[in-house]
Amino acid sequence: MGRILGIDLGTTNSLAAVWQNGESMLIPNSFGEYLTPSVVSFGEDDTVYVGKTAKERLVTHPECSVSVFKRFMGTDKKYKIRGKKYRPEELSAFVLRKLREDAQRYLGEEIEEAVVSVPAYFNDKARKATKNAGELAGLKVDRIINEPSAAALACRKCGNEQDETFLVFDFGGGTLDVSLVDCFDNIIEITAVSGDNHLGGSDFDEAVAREFCREHHLDFDELSPQRQGILLESASRAKCGLSEKKDVIMSVSDGEFKGQMEMNNKKLIKISMPLFQRISAPVKRVMNDGKKDMLGISKVILVGGSCKMPSLQQYLCHTLGEYSLAVMNPDYMVALGVGTYAGIKERREDIKDLLLTDICPFSLGTGIFNAGNAKRALMSTIIERNSVLPCSHRAHFQTASDYQKHVVIDVYQGEEYYADNNIHLGEIEVNVPPAPKGKETVTVDYTYDINGILIVDVEVDSTGEKKRQVITTGTDTMSSDEIKKRVAQLEKMGLCPADQEEYRMLFAWGERLYAQAFGPLKNAVGERLDFFQRLLYAEQNPYKVKKWKREIENFLKNAENYLDDKEIEWNPEDIDSWYEEDEEDDEELREEDRLWHDGHLTH
Ligand code: AMP
Repeated sequence: MGRILGIDLGTTNSLAAVWQNGESMLIPNSFGEYLTPSVVSFGEDDTVYVGKTAKERLVTHPECSVSVFKRFMGTDKKYKIRGKKYRPEELSAFVLRKLREDAQRYLGEEIEEAVVSVPAYFNDKARKATKNAGELAGLKVDRIINEPSAAALACRKCGNEQDETFLVFDFGGGTLDVSLVDCFDNIIEITAVSGDNHLGGSDFDEAVAREFCREHHLDFDELSPQRQGILLESASRAKCGLSEKKDVIMSVSDGEFKGQMEMNNKKLIKISMPLFQRISAPVKRVMNDGKKDMLGISKVILVGGSCKMPSLQQYLCHTLGEYSLAVMNPDYMVALGVGTYAGIKERREDIKDLLLTDICPFSLGTGIFNAGNAKRALMSTIIERNSVLPCSHRAHFQTASDYQKHVVIDVYQGEEYYADNNIHLGEIEVNVPPAPKGKETVTVDYTYDINGILIVDVEVDSTGEKKRQVITTGTDTMSSDEIKKRVAQLEKMGLCPADQEEYRMLFAWGERLYAQAFGPLKNAVGERLDFFQRLLYAEQNPYKVKKWKREIENFLKNAENYLDDKEIEWNPEDIDSWYEEDEEDDEELREEDRLWHDGHLTH
């Protein structure tokens, strides 16, 4: 069996891991980093940027850069970029392709199969879309694993392996998943899950950005996408800064406007109180569903980037009581777990006896006749949420009106009373012999597997007519023919070559700072970009490129710090106080240093 790649396809960042030498090993990307931002940007020449470079371009080229598309997996949302339309799964496919290429380069072998994690709350369409994304990236994705289950697996592997029950609180960029996990012997059982798939770190970024606008009399909704992007990026940095410092200054300068705002954790809690309030509901629900109280829980494991917020940790301590919160590599836990799962799937000797049981995170049912209001069917649940997977349940239904000729089984997912308030997954129609109401009956079987694929079988009891539908496709997911066609089209669009990536990233970073900076700093950034561009393309001297890359990197780092932390009014004489350059012994390069500082940037 070939190598299987474990992929945590996150809303904000994605990671890859494999099972190697008895443990799950994260794979660094071409920048040597484990986190690859889930951002895609399209260049003029059909070059596709994924990750860090694309994240920089999100600010400078918002019209051709996209992020947070995972939130729309399985919907019919389309992104129109440079005259072409992309589905969320096609954008995800670029991220998967990048992770795959980086992993192949790192491991020195071809990879054709992957296990991908998804939020427990992903519905069937979103799961199918995730599998399609894999196929579009040239990866067979047989197995989808719930993110909290992956996190539980990783916790189990790095914990003391005693029998225990714990809560996994997985709070990422776009989703919150809470799961109750029972561990005994070599079995890890997920016993209840709940969550909010529209609550994550980016909502806090927006709350901060909106507060900034309120204080500066700006209307966030009226700002251009580019200015909103700059604002959200600064808001996110200020929010993240609060996990290291008590007070931070959020500075925004977007070419048209400049301003600052003080931020501290108290203020963050105040401006995002409605978000905090939404956090406790899934915790309560999971405890109710799992019939547990906090006394039966050994710890709460915090997973996902947003768990790094001290205010969140305080809030959880406050709502859960004095509790042992375990913050374990919040960014990496899911990926490490998917890597472990990849090892189980490869049937590696050192892990194959570990068993993970998962559950169905939502109820599945059908709409039935509502005697009180014939226009609105009621939900009749066939598979209850939190049923252990795989599972199969049977239900019987009878005709609702005299001499009806057909019975339609509408398949719904959700917990709502009225069927149409739930998600409609599909329908099956069967013919029944006309008869007085209640005389004809049908038997319906729902089978739900570990990958979240639902099979619906309907049989007319009197005639034996049978129909089956595998609920994986809908109007808004792609058919296999469509996928094949699209694979060929997308493959023509090359990812940015790995040996160019760090330079392009530097450019993208410089371009963003250029857009943010004012006056002399703007000119200084621009001059360095011009210079570097010339060196790269006109001179093509790898030695010089390397040397100046470091220099420019240093310069941009300082410029970034300057824009972030200090007074924005910038005086060219100030540069010595914050711009440190590298010491370099080489005589030839010293000469260039002089040219640089004398302002003679042409050679
Ligand atoms: P994930 O989806 O798990 O990668 O989490 C990404 C989210 O975590 C984003 O919304 C980030 O802004 C947020 N995040 C990452 N680091 C921090 C931090 N130090 N403090 C607060 N939020 C963070």
